[in-house]
Amino acid sequence: MEALVYTGPEKVEVQQVALPVPCDTKVKVRMLLCGICGTDIGIYSGKHPRAKAPLILGHEFVGRVEECPEHSRFVPGDRVVAYPLLSCGDCHPCRHGTPHVCANLRLIGIDRDGGLTDHLWLDDEVLFRVPEALPDQIAALVEPLAVVVRTLHQARFTLGQTAVVMGAGPIGLLTAVVLRHAGASRILVSDIDSSRLELCRRMGFDAVDASNESLQQRVLQVSGGDGVDVVFECSGVASSALEMTALARVGGTLCLTATHKTPAPVSLIDVNFKELTLVGSRVYTLAEFASAVELAESLADTLAPVITQVVPLSGSASIFDMIADPAIHTVKLLVDCQS
Ligand SMILES: [Zn+2]
Ligand SMILES: [Zn+2]
Repeated sequence: MEALVYTGPEKVEVQQVALPVPCDTKVKVRMLLCGICGTDIGIYSGKHPRAKAPLILGHEFVGRVEECPEHSRFVPGDRVVAYPLLSCGDCHPCRHGTPHVCANLRLIGIDRDGGLTDHLWLDDEVLFRVPEALPDQIAALVEPLAVVVRTLHQARFTLGQTAVVMGAGPIGLLTAVVLRHAGASRILVSDIDSSRLELCRRMGFDAVDASNESLQQRVLQVSGGDGVDVVFECSGVASSALEMTALARVGGTLCLTATHKTPAPVSLIDVNFKELTLVGSRVYTLAEFASAVELAESLADTLAPVITQVVPLSGSASIFDMIADPAIHTVKLLVDCQS
């Protein structure tokens, strides 16, 4: 079968690989679509701390069940998405009910072969049935949507609050969509990329071009000088980490949704004097993944514009060049595993 294989820093190849060995305790899933995200870009760059070549990439996938073990909850033909987290079961967080932040957390598509291929054998308990009405492309957004569900929970976001989303990449845009759905009274989304800002406006959001306007001034202006209730840092850029404390109101919350791979300066005196709450968000619990399946169905039409390209698996060796090319405006790129 075909697979997109990471073979070393800045190298991926579409290769013929052996079909996985049949496993009578697992569900055989035919891959349909698989999304590409910042983590995959990190692996491709060779900077991911755990991913080791050769590795079949892909942790944001939707597939169709082909074979099931006895007593499975599924039947052949079911479309499914998979919770890709692999927790050790032994560490402190695993033993205390938070296996999603397992000290030895591993993921399908990062630490073991993932979904950018024809078939995978997956455990029954990590699979979620995709509702009939949910298109394949939107089902491929369930994993990043689960990241967003987590981040709203971590921020303790409540109806009527105001928010700033820093960064209009896939996670930033999905965060804005879910915030609107969750009843935010005002949402500002900032970025410096004109095509992403344009998409953001088309999706109905108040977009701030931080390359020629002060986000802080805009936030203060729309909030009567007070700042917003919650700031979601979805850009992963150091300058945003430095700016975020100035955007929150006294007693507000800062949620780190993006991963900052190197230490970034933060105005800690703002955290003191404004009594800010700074919270992190990593992945998602099983329950949050289940919520994301439900949300994907109710938000399907709103989410669709985030998908900017669908590339066939056979031609997917070029996806990282496409993402890096400023002339090709990618937000969420999906790979079609059937072509
Ligand atoms: Zn991802
Ligand atoms: Zn663990």
